[in-house]
Amino acid sequence: MSDLSRPTGPRIVAITNQKGGVGKTTTTINLAAALAEKNLNVLVVDLDPQGNASTGLGIEPEDRKFTTYDFLVDEVELEQVILNTSTKLVSLIPATVDLSSADIELFTNEKRSFLLHDALRQTALDAFAFDYVLIDCPPSLNLLTVNAMVAAHSVIVPLQSEFFALEGLSQLMLTIREVRQTANPNLRIEGIVLTMYDARNNLSQQVEADARANLGDLVFRSVIPRNVRVSEAPSYALPVLSYDTGSKGAAAYRSLATELLQKHENIAA
Ligand code: ADP
Ligand code: MG
Repeated sequence: MSDLSRPTGPRIVAITNQKGGVGKTTTTINLAAALAEKNLNVLVVDLDPQGNASTGLGIEPEDRKFTTYDFLVDEVELEQVILNTSTKLVSLIPATVDLSSADIELFTNEKRSFLLHDALRQTALDAFAFDYVLIDCPPSLNLLTVNAMVAAHSVIVPLQSEFFALEGLSQLMLTIREVRQTANPNLRIEGIVLTMYDARNNLSQQVEADARANLGDLVFRSVIPRNVRVSEAPSYALPVLSYDTGSKGAAAYRSLATELLQKHENIAA
């Protein structure tokens, strides 16, 4: 990728949706792996106290010496918080349940919405030469999610291909608008990605049709199918791209990565 698209360091993308179980973590891990396959250097920031992205990338709780909490709240150095994962070119700042108290602890901190932004803009980050930073958000519109939106250039919203999928989206859009009006005027919606799509299910097709009718080009052409290999991969501590490289799930995430890079090249041009 040309440097034009990232004049000031890596491109930072928050993967967010306040609903749980819609595929945020799965998308973060596998999009990271798909970008890495294209020789891009990716940092995953686990911003969910559940730490699922950390587990899915093979970092056990006992190996999470320093975490996103330390990075945000205690200003622990980048070199200390960044871990290598078993996936080449994918690094991680892991999370533990510690992070769940950040919301309350930070309430009186004037810079509370800017902690991740400031932490990620340390010049020390340049030494790692990341092309992308993907932030796996918690399932709520709390201070952590606001930190992700303030730090990011753009957001990707996974949408589960189920009934009620579009519900809650307006709340998310409101939060994005608020962040734009206050802390991050340039925050873009990168796109909405349909996840757990079942082509044999009328409901999936209907959700897709609705999403494309209402949201148009904001919806990625790539759709992530419901695929058992995708759901098995985390228990082997691997992205599906390594767990079953020929699976439909792996192909879908490769396609999503290609689409993302095309979008960014268009912006840079
Ligand atoms: P979130 O991070 O939004 O809470 P997850 O990524 O953890 O959601 O996904 C929720 C559950 O659905 C997990 O058990 C995950 O393995 C499963 N899952 C996600 N995407 C797929 C998929 N494409 N096919 C099958 N199972 C999936
Ligand atoms: Mg998650």
